[in-house]
Amino acid sequence: MKWPAIGYVRADSLDDLWRIQAEHGAAAQVLAGGQTLLATLAFRLSDPKLLVDITRIAALRGVELQGGVLRIGALTRHAELARDGLVAAHAPLLAEAAPLIAHPAIRNRGTIGGSLAYADPAAELPACVVALGATIVTASAAGGRRIPAAAFFTGLLETALEPGEIIAAVEVPVATQATRSAIREVARRSGDYAMAGLAASLEMDGARVGAARLVFFGVGAGPVLAARAGAALQGRVLDGAAVAAAQASLAQDLDPPADMHGPPEMKRHLARVLVQRVLAGFQPETEAAA
Ligand SMILES: Cc1cc2nc3c(=O)[nH]c(=O)nc-3n(C[C@H](O)[C@H](O)[C@H](O)COP(=O)(O)OP(=O)(O)OC[C@H]3O[C@@H](n4cnc5c(N)ncnc54)[C@H](O)[C@@H]3O)c2cc1C
Repeated sequence: MKWPAIGYVRADSLDDLWRIQAEHGAAAQVLAGGQTLLATLAFRLSDPKLLVDITRIAALRGVELQGGVLRIGALTRHAELARDGLVAAHAPLLAEAAPLIAHPAIRNRGTIGGSLAYADPAAELPACVVALGATIVTASAAGGRRIPAAAFFTGLLETALEPGEIIAAVEVPVATQATRSAIREVARRSGDYAMAGLAASLEMDGARVGAARLVFFGVGAGPVLAARAGAALQGRVLDGAAVAAAQASLAQDLDPPADMHGPPEMKRHLARVLVQRVLAGFQPETEAAA
């Protein structure tokens, strides 16, 4: 389908954006990479009168280490996440996740801010930021807020963003020597949205798990933190029994709806498989081979 007739304007700074928003109100919608928004326009799933291009706003760009936190500007593209040295060193889960998103052309334009704001339940990055205990930093004409990622995703394609508020950056606590992270997903074809996926971040205490955040995507209305499965791993050596305990806990953590990929029981099965695949990567070689 063709796009509807629509206005376009470019904001060169945050002040410019606030001025445009004040003038056009709810009729204006921010445009970042356009990889989701332009498709929703074509399918008449959204109806803004004016697209406000934010891709030239310098305050939304860049990846910086600030003490114990990696600040990733909202305009950081998926392809940049995959190749940035700071991301690889300090938030390797995001570097591992980025190549799983769609195809190179989409990764070259799509941004982390756009992905988090759209909050697709099958998207990789929302699950990753929850697994990493990240903070979403917002900006608006009224000032900014800092929202824990776990509180940011509020429902199907819904977030805690208020009208006129945008994502400015994501702050990720830097990985330590004790951090282990991984992402796995099951998709029909490479580049498709996942049928189910799991992003995990563990803090090890020697050979034992100190804390574990297992966050699923594609199995609910948004990223699903499997709190009981994480608790089942706490204090344990990552052996087969620990994996089985985490898998058993999923029955309480997950209540997946049926979707175009299949019924809830298929999703539950995929979730168990994903736990095994993710945790196998953290086990000593002898355990993983057993
Ligand atoms: C064929 C195809 C396959 C895809 N496959 C995947 C996949 O496997 N996994 C995956 O995760 N994604 C996938 N995507 C989506 C892709 O990751 C998008 O890039 C991403 O969802 C949106 O980012 P964007 O920068 O393009 O945002 P846009 O399309 O520009 O905007 C999306 C929405 O976010 C809002 N927005 C954008 N930036 C901000 C901001 N800073 N603050 C507040 N609101 C903002 C916009 O107003 C709009 O509502 C796919 C897209 C396509 C077209």
